[in-house]
Amino acid sequence: MDFKLQEGTFPATRWDIKSGSTMKSLQIEVFLCRSDNFGVLLHCLETGETASIDAPEFGPIVASAEKRGWTITHIFTTHHHGDHVEANLALKEKYGCEIIGPRNEAAVIPGIDRTVGDGDEFTFAKRPVRVIETPGHTAGHICYYLPEDMLLFAADTLFALGCGRLFERSALDMWHSLQKLASLPDETIVYFGHEYTLSNARFALTVDPENARLRSRAELIEMQRKRGDFTIPTTIGLEKETNPFLRAGDPDIRRTLGMEGATNDEVFAEIRKRKDSF
Ligand code: ZN
Ligand code: FE
Repeated sequence: MDFKLQEGTFPATRWDIKSGSTMKSLQIEVFLCRSDNFGVLLHCLETGETASIDAPEFGPIVASAEKRGWTITHIFTTHHHGDHVEANLALKEKYGCEIIGPRNEAAVIPGIDRTVGDGDEFTFAKRPVRVIETPGHTAGHICYYLPEDMLLFAADTLFALGCGRLFERSALDMWHSLQKLASLPDETIVYFGHEYTLSNARFALTVDPENARLRSRAELIEMQRKRGDFTIPTTIGLEKETNPFLRAGDPDIRRTLGMEGATNDEVFAEIRKRKDSF
C-alpha cells in the first residue's frame, strides 16, 4: 500500500491511497466542519462514486466536493448525534445520495435509506465495506471498515489518543467496542470524527507519563496544532502504542493509577472518568 501526503495546506488535506491496481484508487479529502468535526469524502477514481463519512455541515461538504468535481453518491452515517447527521437531508436533496446508517439508531437518522448492523458487508466502489458495531458513545454507533484498503472510519468511538464520551452505554461496552477496533491490523489507517488530539495528548501524558512513544508523539502534535495542521489520520498500531484508552492492561498505567489488581474494563472506566473532568 502506498500512502502519501499529497497536499498539506490548511484547512484541506488530501491523501491518495493506492491499494492493488491504480484502477482501484481511492482519494480522500479531509476538511473542517463546524468547530472541530472532520468532514471526510472518499472518492473512487474508477467508478466515480463519492461517500461522505457522516454529514456534519452542508456548506464545507459541498464546497469540498465541488472543488474536486465530485458528486456525492453515498453518506455513511456512524451515529445519530446532530454534529454527524445535520446535513443528511440537505445533501440528499442536492445529490439524491443514498444514506446508509446504523440499524439500532435508524429511527433517529434523518433520511436513512439502508440500515446495517454488526458484520454486515456492502459494496462501495467495487470493494467490500464491513460494518463494525461499537456501542458506547451511543447505543448503536457503527464504524465502517474497508479491508482491501485497510481503512477504518471510527467517528466518535476511537480518536487519536482518545475515545468518545460514554453517553448511552457503559464503560464495559465501550471497552469491548474498542477491543474490536484494536484487533484490526496494525497498519489500518483510521479516520476519526473530531480534532481533539491536542487535549487528548495532554491528558494521556497524565496517566502514561513514562511512555516514550507517547511523549514524542505528544511533542509532534503540539507542533502540528501550532502550525494549524490536522492530526488525522492515525493507525491502529500507533494507537495501541500510545492511546491510554486501548492500554488499560499496561503495567505502567496501572501503577500510575494505583489499580494493579483491577480488571481491564475497570482501569478503562477510571481513565474515561478522569478524562471527563480533565
Ligand atoms: Zn457523537
Ligand atoms: Fe461528534
